Amino acid sequence: MPEKKPATRYIYFTGGVVSSVGKGVTAAAVGQLLKQRGLKVAIQKLDPYINVDPGTMSPYQHGEVYVLDDGAETDLDLGHYERFIDIRLNRECNMTTGQVYAEVIGRERHGDYLGGTIQVVPHITNEIKRRIERVAETTGAEVVLIEVGGTVGDIESQPFIEAIRQMRGDLGREHTACVHVTWLPHIGATSELKTKPTQHSVRELRAMGIAPDMIVARADYPVDVPLVEKISLFCDVEKQAVIPMPTAKDIYEIPLLLEKAGVAELLMKRLGLKARRKPDWSEWQALVNAVAKERPTVRVALVGKYTELQDAYMSVREALRHAAISEGVELDLRFIPSVDLEKGKGWDELGSVSGIVVPGGFGSRGIEGKLQAIRHARQNNIPYLGLCLGMQLMVVDFAREMLGDAGANSTEFDPRTSLPVIDILPEQKNITDMGGTMRLGLYPCRLLPGSHAGKAYGVKEVQERHRHRYELNNEYRTALEAKGMLFSGLSPDGRLVEIAELKGHPFMLGTQFHPEFLSRPTRPHPLFKAFMAAAKKSSRARK
Ligand code: GLN
Repeated sequence: MPEKKPATRYIYFTGGVVSSVGKGVTAAAVGQLLKQRGLKVAIQKLDPYINVDPGTMSPYQHGEVYVLDDGAETDLDLGHYERFIDIRLNRECNMTTGQVYAEVIGRERHGDYLGGTIQVVPHITNEIKRRIERVAETTGAEVVLIEVGGTVGDIESQPFIEAIRQMRGDLGREHTACVHVTWLPHIGATSELKTKPTQHSVRELRAMGIAPDMIVARADYPVDVPLVEKISLFCDVEKQAVIPMPTAKDIYEIPLLLEKAGVAELLMKRLGLKARRKPDWSEWQALVNAVAKERPTVRVALVGKYTELQDAYMSVREALRHAAISEGVELDLRFIPSVDLEKGKGWDELGSVSGIVVPGGFGSRGIEGKLQAIRHARQNNIPYLGLCLGMQLMVVDFAREMLGDAGANSTEFDPRTSLPVIDILPEQKNITDMGGTMRLGLYPCRLLPGSHAGKAYGVKEVQERHRHRYELNNEYRTALEAKGMLFSGLSPDGRLVEIAELKGHPFMLGTQFHPEFLSRPTRPHPLFKAFMAAAKKSSRARK
């Protein structure tokens, strides 16, 4: 008789007191802890908002849109997950309330409920549970980590919490665990940390039928033993399962911190799981040591639109950091709003950098400022990396000068431009009419040997993640090439330009895709690494 597949284990991460204290990073770090022990993990974010996905949400409010291999546009926490656990996730790994309701209402309209009354319990909670199970089905994971967005007590997240409560009964307590991540506020006058809000949030969680198995107590100050004992007593969680987590100098220390606290052993014992191998933290330790070391700084400018909210460029910043660590330099990243450059502001700062990045973006605000920054990089031999929009604008700037038409543009910003070097391709125009508009997710790219890109990757073909509508207009390829632009990455059929670079410039390269999504702390992305090496060189020459 074939052996029965062991039950999938679930670890739920809920938040108490306030949001933004690192629930996502904690969950991701726990994922790495389990992976280190040879377990196959997957991770899912439950987002309580009604939007169907973050694709159309303003990065001002929501931070960056993180894109997966299959083209899913997801919450930026999935970026933390992929980077920390070093895995590739799929679209099942991000669920929003909007998706759940859209599905249930769709079925209701279709008559699937045979006229029954549709309610939050059981119809909405059943759909939530179905979508949670899809993660194990599609990834084959033995342990699925579930992060519930927001904090307990929020109106929006109640159906999620209720679904989890039911799951614990459905699957058996021994197959599930709940980690509650809270915040200990610091009172300046008496210089002490307070546990009362944590107690209240645990009470709230219990009122909804869930007793936490572990409490991660986040704080900006060290959490001492008496405080841990107090939390343990008042919240009815074993003392070893109260994990103090003071703010780390660097987020990459967190897995090591949780390892030392014995988190993996506790959770695995709770879930009846056995380690298949001993964890090997040497790579992570080396990473943390490298970060702690005194290193020469390299100043890089990120010229973007949403520079007020740095979360909008989370993955770009992380990819730059990974590259800087591996190049043995410290990144001094300056966010420069492109609209400032248009008004003549920010130029001194831009003049002080050894590398310039223009990230992805949509909409015409600040475009001319980005073009000015790109021209500055091109004319002054400053290393440049253009990501998606940053590649398109690199082509526009080059065309304006080298093809002698100051009106050159992308039709996204000037539909009537005299020189549409960036445009929607003819075959995509039909798709636009049908509603599906973006090139999303993984596409292959063939590299030109000997080019900057070819040398950086060191292979013939790669797969990278996309999120855009516009492409380089093939009508202008020969003219641009004649003037010194090199198309060093193409789709295998040669029809789409995926990478452009400039001959005779130390490093000026733009990608139609988003390489930042595939960079990992211990495996920096080759193009970011090559860019950082060039910036390091230019920084040395400057000094
Ligand atoms: N707005 C551009 C396009 O749609 C670039 C998109 C991006 O940078 N992600 O093609």
